[in-house]
Amino acid sequence: MGFFNKIKDKISKTTEAVNQKVDMVFASFHEISDELLDDLEDALIMSDLGPHVAMKCREELSKRGKLKRVETAEELKAILKEVLSDMMVENEGIDTSTTPTVVLVIGVNGVGKTTSIGKLATKYQNEGKKVLLCAADTFRAAAADQLTIWAERAGCEIVKHYEGSDPAAVVYDGIAAAKARNSDIIIIDTAGRLHNKQNLMKELEKIGRIIDTNLKEANREVLLALDATTGQNAVSQAREFAKVTNITGIILTKLDGTAKGGIVIPISGELKIPVKFVGIGEGKDDLIDFDKQDFLDALFE
Ligand code: GDP
Ligand code: MG
Repeated sequence: MGFFNKIKDKISKTTEAVNQKVDMVFASFHEISDELLDDLEDALIMSDLGPHVAMKCREELSKRGKLKRVETAEELKAILKEVLSDMMVENEGIDTSTTPTVVLVIGVNGVGKTTSIGKLATKYQNEGKKVLLCAADTFRAAAADQLTIWAERAGCEIVKHYEGSDPAAVVYDGIAAAKARNSDIIIIDTAGRLHNKQNLMKELEKIGRIIDTNLKEANREVLLALDATTGQNAVSQAREFAKVTNITGIILTKLDGTAKGGIVIPISGELKIPVKFVGIGEGKDDLIDFDKQDFLDALFE
């Protein structure tokens, strides 16, 4: 049994929302007609898969379904799963082979960056790696305090400055500390204010230059945190952030308790950014590695 099936109750709102709509269409299946494909396209859009994915599914289902001479709704559903899987990019995880490896976490306020960093720190500490957190969200004093609590929970180190200081300076100190202490992974928390694109871009570039100069050989990961409960809005955020910086992966938070988890599919299948982790609660262990096949199996069980 796949991992998503084990935590299926956590994502049940999404699986029910998607399944109900898709099953309703497939219940009326006689043949692959234009009407059926229209209804399916609508059902997928209403399930938060977005117009692009829905249209692509329609085309592929028509093509592959006819080619395979599909006779039952179950067969067609299996093809739908296959089409979605083909569209979605593979999650290759995070390459932590360099010491240190740098993980920069960005995203708008409240999406769950700091919480996810706490969970990531816990995960890597549990794997025996030495984590150092870097509090480069200097916008509010409370941000560093919150990260400090997470560092204590995870049992890792933290580097922070006072409120209002230069985020790049915190990163600079974080790198120096990581070198001195032989840390395996540096995870950087940021303020990521998207409403001011120019400033955000400048800030990320500045942080990038500090890493380039001081840790040239390190693997670098830029994870964008998105809040699943915001549905299509999260998809637009991914699109906007991708214009500003090179995102290597997504952390999709708050998948527990939302019916909008279907957005995993356009993020991975349309924007082609791998979803690397999903958040399923507020606790330190509520972060799981994303696997597309596993997710689709749970979704269309
Ligand atoms: P940040 O502003 O992006 O750093 O967001 P925070 O990490 O401070 O999180 C904002 C709120 O979302 C907090 O109340 C978190 O407990 C909550 N949160 C974060 N991730 C999850 C998740 O996966 N599930 C749930 N239910 N809540 C989450
Ligand atoms: Mg934060």
